Amino acid sequence: MAASPEFQHTIGKPAGFSGTSLHTGEKVSLKLHPAPVDHGIKFRRKDLQDEPTIDAKIDNLKTVERATTIGEGSVRVHTVEHVLATLSAMGVDNAIVEMDANEPPIGDGSAHAYVDVIKRAGVAPQDAPRKFFDVREPMHVESRTGAMLVLLPDDKFRISCTQAGPDNRFTQYLSMEITPLTFEKEIAPARTFVYYEDVEPLMQKNLIKGGSLENAIVVRGEAVLSKEPLRFADEFVRHKILDIIGDLALFGPRIRGHVIAVKPGHGVNAELVRALAREYSRTSALAVPRIFPPGEGGLDINQVMEILPHRFPFLMVDRVIGFEADTKITAVKSVSISEPYFQVC
Ligand SMILES: [Zn+2]
Repeated sequence: MAASPEFQHTIGKPAGFSGTSLHTGEKVSLKLHPAPVDHGIKFRRKDLQDEPTIDAKIDNLKTVERATTIGEGSVRVHTVEHVLATLSAMGVDNAIVEMDANEPPIGDGSAHAYVDVIKRAGVAPQDAPRKFFDVREPMHVESRTGAMLVLLPDDKFRISCTQAGPDNRFTQYLSMEITPLTFEKEIAPARTFVYYEDVEPLMQKNLIKGGSLENAIVVRGEAVLSKEPLRFADEFVRHKILDIIGDLALFGPRIRGHVIAVKPGHGVNAELVRALAREYSRTSALAVPRIFPPGEGGLDINQVMEILPHRFPFLMVDRVIGFEADTKITAVKSVSISEPYFQVC
């Protein structure tokens, strides 16, 4: 089913799969459930008493080392970025991600298994408009390590990313519009990659019990070690784009804008989400909610002047003659020959 971009969507029916957890190496089952309008994405820990849920929101972000961890109270879920990226890019706004462990199955290190489960579940439209954030002015965040994200106005959601490894090895660049189709074909198959020097200490401490060449590409010097050949010549930058989509999903509203990323990572991605959340609450605070008369009812000039600060000759609305939902009005401005801009010297 083609997803309508203007309405919220959930999944059509529950669907799930099982696999290995990256950090503990234990078996974990994940199941997606439909959720009502304005619910957002929530994780449910079915293995804990009372089955607590965690809202996938930036306020619940706990750590960004190697993976994105969210939590509420003492409950945590780790490595949420790939499942969040897939839900967001495939057009799912509302769902419950139920798990019987503290992280989703890692699969083959890509988002392939999540795309698969969403396609089995189906994507279903709901009776409420989606929330969008339209980027109006450039925003940017950067880290001391040289990572930088810039967000520019665009009528689509685009990501242009430059990834570079140690000593600028494996520098790759890719730019694309993110749609369910481009995500499934171009981004979801790209696997996690790690640098040997980063994972060796973790392996020694036994912190990544489930980690193997089955679920990550290991880069050692100039050598690329993986179970199967690279799926794309630029697989690394594609995986970086996958992680950006997943981390930006913690924002909530859908972004219409162009993300330009240089050496991104979970830390700087989260900084951009925090900046977006601040900007969103600032701009939505400016728009004071009002109850408008439905249908034919409109606003006369006095009611218009209660809302708009502009005055003659800058007040370009004389009366409002109709409203459609929260997003469209029809208004009238009458002009006569005596208006100042028609005067000729
Ligand atoms: Zn990742």
